Formats: sequence, C-alpha cells, structure tokens
Amino acid sequence: MKHFSESLPFYKANFHCHTTESDGHLSPAAVADFYKNAGYDILALTDHRKVTHISRDDLLMVPGIEIDYRLTGQWVHILGLGMNDEITDRWNRFGTPQEGIDLIRSLGGIAVLAHPAWSLNTPAFMRSLTGLSGVEIWNSVSTLPLNGDRADSSSLLDVTWASGGELLPVFANDDSHQYETEAGVAATMVQAEELSFSSVMRALKDGHFYATTGPEIHQIEIKNYQELIVSCSPAESVIFYSDCPWAEGRSIIKPGMTECNYFIQKSDHFVRIEVRDKAGRKAWSAPIKIR
Ligand SMILES: [Zn+2]
Ligand SMILES: [Zn+2]
Repeated sequence: MKHFSESLPFYKANFHCHTTESDGHLSPAAVADFYKNAGYDILALTDHRKVTHISRDDLLMVPGIEIDYRLTGQWVHILGLGMNDEITDRWNRFGTPQEGIDLIRSLGGIAVLAHPAWSLNTPAFMRSLTGLSGVEIWNSVSTLPLNGDRADSSSLLDVTWASGGELLPVFANDDSHQYETEAGVAATMVQAEELSFSSVMRALKDGHFYATTGPEIHQIEIKNYQELIVSCSPAESVIFYSDCPWAEGRSIIKPGMTECNYFIQKSDHFVRIEVRDKAGRKAWSAPIKIR
C-alpha cells in the first residue's frame, strides 16, 4: 500500500501567518509577495480573530483565521482554513475550543490545532478534541531568537498518540509575524489533483500532505503491515517513531540515502517517519496507523 499517489504533484504551502490586519509586520500584499518569491504555491493568511482577504493570480490563497482560548494552565490556538467572514461574527471567544472546531467545520472549513508545545497543551486535552483535520508538528516562529524554543511538538504528539489520541496528519507552518528568521522556513507539502481551492481543501481533508523544513518525502510504502519503506531526498538519518519506546532498527544513519526501511514491531500501533538532512532540517510524515 502506498501512502502517496504515484502521479500527483506536491504543492508547497504555508497555512499560518499574520499580516498588519492583526499583529504581523507586513501588509497582506507584502506577505503574499514574500511567499511567492520564496517558491510557495499556496498561502493562508491566518490573522488573529479575523479573515483577511486578498486575491492573487500567482498564488492559491486559502482564506483562514486563527482563533484562541485561554484555559487554566494552557492556551489553545486553532486555525480555521477555507473560511468565510461569517466565523468572525459567530465565534464566541468565551466558548470552548471544541465549539470553535465545530463552528469552523459547520462553515465548511477545516480545523488545525496550532503549536501545541508552545501552548502547553496536555495530552488529555488533545485527546478530548474531535473534528480536527491536523496539528502543527512544527511552528517556525516558536524558536530562537523570536519566541522561546518550542517549535517542535513531535514528542508531545507521540505521548498523545501513544495514549490513545486520534492520529492526526501533521503541518509545518511558519506562523510568521516579524518576517525575519521565521519566514520561509517551513512548508506543508500538499498532494492534490490540481492547484485549485477545492482540490487543495479535499487533499487537506483526506490527509494527503506532510510537513517539512527542508527534506522531501517522496513515498511511504507499507508492505503487508510488516515493513515500511520510505523514499526521500538525500538524508543523513531517518527515524521511525512509534508508540513503543524501544524498537530494533528504528534509527538509520546513512549519509546521502534516498531510501530505507523499518520492520514493524508487534507492539507498534502507529509509526511516523522523521527524515533529517545534512543541515539538520527535518521532514515529518503523519502517524500511520498499523493496527
Ligand atoms: Zn497562535
Ligand atoms: Zn499565529
């Protein structure tokens, strides 16, 4: 079984950034110029609590928003992608995060949990949510020098998934505000029929994407639920993480490799793949359900 289509292209996207319509430092048009020049195909402006619209011929714009809640001991930020303005009138900031997710979905959008490590989201809280289409495993602004160093949520997500949380596909987003070191770092690579709004929304709903700060994942093949084979751009190391703390052959270090494999352990319920290149940049697959 192949995880990705053999024939469809991947499109490079950033689904999380801010403009001068909230607390970003660049205007909506300048943000779009930045991402176009950085080689992106798809962009969502996700200003805080409002949907910012611009139209472009040279980028596929996905209208978005970031809504937020403050709970005891943690904050919750949720991206709504594919939104219309109705959400700004109907969103209740004193409601619950689950109500926010339900509202996004009822308006035809998809909901993504943003930067759970930065927000101090707990596994128990994340397990309680339903209706998310994905979660940010990487959030570029949440690192030095701008904003602490909790960009990478992978360990927290492993704990959540190992304790029964829904296996969600993963996004890598910039969450750009300053447009300094955090912008143009991350991408969510979407495999879609074509570069159109409906096709990209369909791919997001179906989980046809992976997250990266550099390396490419070309294919993941699951053979008889016994072996996983990943092909990728030249990597230094590949790690096959699962819900079992120790596994034979999990860590493969072979500079320049473009393919490697892992034999699924009897106790693995999911496996996810992390590819690292020579520069230390990473790509993350979704957690793949094994049994
Ligand atoms: Zn946020
Ligand atoms: Zn944000």
